[in-house]
Amino acid sequence: MTAGSGLVETIGGPIDADVLGRTLLHEHVLLVEPELDANYPGWFDEDSEVRDAQHQLRRLKEAGIDTLVDLTVLGLGRNVDLVRRAAEGSGLNIVVATGIYTMDELPPFFRRRGPGRLMGGDDPLEAFLVRDIVQGIAETGVKAGVIKCATGERGVTDDVDRVLRATATAHLRTGAPISTHTDAGTFRGHDQQRILGSEGVDLGRVLIGHSGDSEDLGYLTELMDAGSYIGMDRFGMDTILPTENRCRVVAELVKRGYASRIVLSHDTNCYTVNWEKDVRERVLPDWHHRFISEYVLGRLGELGVSPDDIDQMMRVNPRSFLAGAPSRTEVAA
Ligand SMILES: [Zn+2]
Repeated sequence: MTAGSGLVETIGGPIDADVLGRTLLHEHVLLVEPELDANYPGWFDEDSEVRDAQHQLRRLKEAGIDTLVDLTVLGLGRNVDLVRRAAEGSGLNIVVATGIYTMDELPPFFRRRGPGRLMGGDDPLEAFLVRDIVQGIAETGVKAGVIKCATGERGVTDDVDRVLRATATAHLRTGAPISTHTDAGTFRGHDQQRILGSEGVDLGRVLIGHSGDSEDLGYLTELMDAGSYIGMDRFGMDTILPTENRCRVVAELVKRGYASRIVLSHDTNCYTVNWEKDVRERVLPDWHHRFISEYVLGRLGELGVSPDDIDQMMRVNPRSFLAGAPSRTEVAA
């Protein structure tokens, strides 16, 4: 899975990047709450939710998606074993991620350990990220194919800075690409590019996530001109920005020649304890894994996006991002 090797780690083992096919780069499968379950059981029916996720993932494959990247990391309720069960029989490739999701402070476990900290020793953050990529996650044998980090509205706090730099180190040691969560409204992608770049990361190996929440074309083109991919990755999350606006921004950027730097996704999930299903269906009816296949791609076509550009955003760019291979445009140039 290292840069340029042509292999990508998935939940079923390494696969050739050429078979990734149409890929959703920022999604989730099951977001669980082990502490809640241990103390207040009854909210999460594991067997029934895994079965439901299996059903959803099969339908996603039938809708024409071949690979899903699950960016559920520490802080979001990662459980790779459940994801593996959910993926069984779906025919879908699932790439999982390592990383720490915090917008502000790290858990005390990390705050107190590492060079210059109360307990001293090596930075466990770096060690955990690298372990997930090189050795595998817990005892599952599944290796992470992506490193995720986050910067929220509060910006680069001390701990967020530490996470971004540990992410950079783990990337440089392993070659795994970096995918981020940002608050697009406060232009946090710039902070991430600055810090990751200062650590020596090639920004072409970085995907600035949730960029699709913004309609600021200046901000979006700056991120891409600096070399990164942008994630137009919350289709269906209409409470933040309606689908039609999201589609129009993508169509305009493609018209300006940026198709080789854009990827499309939903940032949705098969299960999360944070939503009651009936409320979710009422408030965000389009926020499911098949929405891009069933609606968005057609709408982009109506707005003038060509089948070649769709292929570039749905297949070529994810392949280049995950495997480190040059994109079509880079080859042409
Ligand atoms: Zn996400």
